[in-house]
Amino acid sequence: MSAKHSALSPTYTRWILEAVGRTFASEPRATCGDCAMCQPPLTSLDRSFSPSLKCCTYWPDLPNFMVGRALLAGGEGARRLRDQIDNRIGLTPFGLQSSPAYHRRYEAQPGKFGMDVDMRCPYYDDGDCTIWQNRNSICQTYFCRVEDGVPGKAIWHQLTLLLALIEEKLSVDCATRRLTHPSFYTAAFQPHGVRNRVTARNFPGWIEENGRIGDELHAQLWGDWSGREVAFFEACAADVEGLSWTEVLTRVGQEADVLARRLRSMVSLSPPSYLRPARPGLALEFDERPDGVAYTSVHGSLEVYLAPQELWNALLDFEGGPLTTEGLALPDRILPLSEVVTLWKTGLLMEGRPTSDRLIEPEDLFRVVPELPVHERILFSEAGQASVQLGFGVTQITFDEPDLLNFGRSLYTHRLGFLASEAPSWSGRSWERSVELLESLLAMGLLERM
Ligand code: SF4
Ligand code: SF4
Repeated sequence: MSAKHSALSPTYTRWILEAVGRTFASEPRATCGDCAMCQPPLTSLDRSFSPSLKCCTYWPDLPNFMVGRALLAGGEGARRLRDQIDNRIGLTPFGLQSSPAYHRRYEAQPGKFGMDVDMRCPYYDDGDCTIWQNRNSICQTYFCRVEDGVPGKAIWHQLTLLLALIEEKLSVDCATRRLTHPSFYTAAFQPHGVRNRVTARNFPGWIEENGRIGDELHAQLWGDWSGREVAFFEACAADVEGLSWTEVLTRVGQEADVLARRLRSMVSLSPPSYLRPARPGLALEFDERPDGVAYTSVHGSLEVYLAPQELWNALLDFEGGPLTTEGLALPDRILPLSEVVTLWKTGLLMEGRPTSDRLIEPEDLFRVVPELPVHERILFSEAGQASVQLGFGVTQITFDEPDLLNFGRSLYTHRLGFLASEAPSWSGRSWERSVELLESLLAMGLLERM
């Protein structure tokens, strides 16, 4: 695969080629020029985006070296970035961030992605991205249609994690190489050394709703570089240009190497040795039709798949089993390997383990998968019935049974870690029924063991 067809910017392509031994091409069915998601929905399960927005209802944070590269590239993108810098919107030595007002609106309406014109990215211009070569890791690795389905999406997600880590660490490295004044370290870092995201929550009163950084905070952050922010960003760009992967690792730490090795282990797309049906109920949403069951994957993919009804029924009766050279033994048939791979890619089968390995014990520790941004919303029906909606990335779960309202809220509160033995007290349900709930969340890839 030539780097010419890479989905990533030239610098990222070079690093990933060195780190993983291959490049990653754009997804052919994500036809961005003629957006695949901007067609009218064909079924009740299909989602579509507004043609004037596509998937660009997202304001990406840009690391300092990317801002510098985009400024040096010139054109409309550079003009918009200069504007943002002049107005100090989300402006810090680490790069450019979105505004608190935007962030809050984004979190408040997870289901409106691709539809809310007020959420249009500030770098989007009439169907085009003005900073295309220098958009951030999330924009570079997002595809609405993925040839290899769920495991293919997992590979893109792993690439996002790796590049986002590099952006985070390298932007801190670039900033600290240039800034030596003490007030920068006081304002920009927590006592234990973690970067302080410059948000309204961390700096109440110092940042305006539109993201403008107040004079005092700006002076603390920038010191002698105040007024020379464009030059600062361009110097950061020059700093990372030409780095080899080994040099990147020296600057960002070995964690990036771990993520790269894990990515390397995923690209063979070998089906797992033990598979079980996706839970709960095989799909996120489904529709039984004369030609089969249309469904969307529990992983929250935007794609709608179709499965024969009898195969669907057989999977509902299936507990899981090992993949052998003959295939996978369902209760009523042996599924050959090629069909197993198809079901795995379309999200009906997922990696599992024998039941004895999966037993949840009261002392087991769980947490919400840390990479998933979690949102909580309390909703009321017209009849005044409350429900708790949790968004885990693109997956949404609604807890509307009365005894599950508190379960949903408690799960959100304890998303960083909890003991399995706590779960029954959240709902009043028995231990066995609480285990079923936890297993469902595990099966959906929303929880993980700690
Ligand atoms: S990735 Fe975005 S712009 Fe490209 S086809 Fe999909 S929704 Fe449209
Ligand atoms: S930076 Fe470009 S690709 Fe990313 S959301 Fe904005 S316009 Fe879309």
